[in-house]
Amino acid sequence: MRKKIVAGNWKMNKTAEEAKALLSEVVNMVKDEVTSDVTVVLCPPALYLTTFRQYVPAGGRISLGAQNCHEKASGAYTGEISAPMLQSIGVEYVILGHSERRQYFGETNTQLAEKVNIALENNLTPIFCCGESRDLRENGDYIGFVKGQLTESVFHLSAEQFANVVIAYEPIWAIGTGLTASSAQAQDMHAELRQHIASQYGDDVAQNTSILYGGSANEKNAAELFAQPDVDGGLIGGASLKSREFTTVVKAIS
Ligand code: PGA
Repeated sequence: MRKKIVAGNWKMNKTAEEAKALLSEVVNMVKDEVTSDVTVVLCPPALYLTTFRQYVPAGGRISLGAQNCHEKASGAYTGEISAPMLQSIGVEYVILGHSERRQYFGETNTQLAEKVNIALENNLTPIFCCGESRDLRENGDYIGFVKGQLTESVFHLSAEQFANVVIAYEPIWAIGTGLTASSAQAQDMHAELRQHIASQYGDDVAQNTSILYGGSANEKNAAELFAQPDVDGGLIGGASLKSREFTTVVKAIS
């Protein structure tokens, strides 16, 4: 059985005080209310991860993730954070290839393949993001495009390595826009991606791969999205910044 995962991507939000308050609310709500075996991953801004680790014990209900890492292990890369650093403070996941990183920081599929490698070498589980623009969805081979993102950035991995990768399908037109993909649109793409993974690694691996949906998922639409057979959870942006709403989304998978 593949893992059910709900990850909160806080992006560049919350001061230290605000972050601590939100963390403590989420920790308590998850402890009191979540009864399923869903894995909850919190991805706050990286500078809070060390403090968060003190409040969120490793191996517990909640895991910690970074929003990015550099493709090199160390060196003269001012302002960057490496996978070994994340591992050294007990981080377990790392979001890679988010469309905002691709768009504003020019991340390419080739560079992302390197990031995926170094994450895995340091025992971080990549949450690898893929997804098409609105223009492509309306006018182009958007399915081929999204499959290509996987082919170019993760299909160089061995089956054994790929087993440690989580995929997040995030249509760019749905991120932060309030325009969620319908549950049918999400299911269709997730099924395509699972098929694509099966063509590379076989059915067993594909059936064990968690594929998350992201893009304006919230307390209203989460249950329907998560009820789709190939949707194994969510990567949640805006709705992860409010403890009550985020917890409701987490519970929607139960
Ligand atoms: P959103 O963001 O839920 O605010 O649309 C999702 C994401 O970018 O991961």
